[in-house]
Amino acid sequence: MYWRHGKRELKKSRESFFHQNGGHILQQKLKGTDVSVGSTVEMFTIEELKKATNNFSQNSVIGKGGFGMVYKGNLTRKAITFPNNQVVAIKKSLKVDKTQVEQFINEIIALSQINNKNVVKILGCCLETEMPLLVYEYISNGTLHEHLHNETKACILTWDVRLRIASEVSEVLAYLYTTISIPIIHRDIKSANILLDDNYTAKVADFGASKLAPIDHERLATTIQGTWGYLDPEYMQSGELTAKSDVYSFGVVLAELLTRKKAISYFRLEDDRNLSFFFLRKLNEGRLSEILDDKLVNGIGDGAKPIVEQLEKVSLVAKRCLEVKADDRTTMKELTASRRE
Ligand code: ATP
Repeated sequence: MYWRHGKRELKKSRESFFHQNGGHILQQKLKGTDVSVGSTVEMFTIEELKKATNNFSQNSVIGKGGFGMVYKGNLTRKAITFPNNQVVAIKKSLKVDKTQVEQFINEIIALSQINNKNVVKILGCCLETEMPLLVYEYISNGTLHEHLHNETKACILTWDVRLRIASEVSEVLAYLYTTISIPIIHRDIKSANILLDDNYTAKVADFGASKLAPIDHERLATTIQGTWGYLDPEYMQSGELTAKSDVYSFGVVLAELLTRKKAISYFRLEDDRNLSFFFLRKLNEGRLSEILDDKLVNGIGDGAKPIVEQLEKVSLVAKRCLEVKADDRTTMKELTASRRE
């Protein structure tokens, strides 16, 4: 009797968490967007994820984001869409409130629609616990931010590698906004959200704040989200989100790739704290060479030195992405064209 009672209670609490975590909203939204949970997103039980992470042990923690811990796990589920013993990254929320639930649901929906080799793939989720969990493919080599801002790691980021990473990310943005049926605005493009695999291929992650952009509306009114230093100034002022906000953030990443300086730094003078303003000021004064990354200018190891014209071209692309007024900013289409060049 006691055992049966316990089992019933557990089932009840799982159902209640599933509801609380937006499980039904997810099911409904997925119906609306014509994506079935079963075909692209696996539903995991908490037991499976506990087993994969050794009960969410401290040893399996691989990162901590604004919304909680990220664990590395080894899943042993046998499924048609899923190889046995797959290494995964499991994102756990620290605290659940209504806005976070919406973000988790957005992330599942946005990611389940995406099929691009430069986007971190979502494999599934678990909504039956107090804190919802998302399961992603594991990307082995850390973030672009870690690599750029670490003296030793940065030595691997030759000009060619940086150019390729920039090109891959711009391709993802163009894909998100122009290729898929319902365009997606990422809203948090930054070097910390660009993961790298063993071949230094870029994988864009963290769609927690992303928005599905309605096709018939150019602009989407939202509450401000994103990361300081990468945020589109016009969006900050008006709260109106467009694909051009991602273009602006991408411009900051380009400036970071060229200078190896952080998007915000309190070690710089007040007017230069913001990399985008610092970068544009130097560029407009014809003094960009003063802040370009030494490693890049002098060449790294066997990596080819960038040709000056290439540096100039990429700097100009960054400048066009960083225009304060969104109307003056380069479009996603133009961005794709400059990538081809
Ligand atoms: P925020 O969510 O506030 O923007 P963030 O982007 O740093 O912060 P997360 O996306 O939660 O946070 O990731 C935290 C860290 O976990 C990352 O910096 C990365 O080191 C690691 N990580 C996240 N996803 C993966 C993944 N799929 N594979 C490997 N490591 C990952």
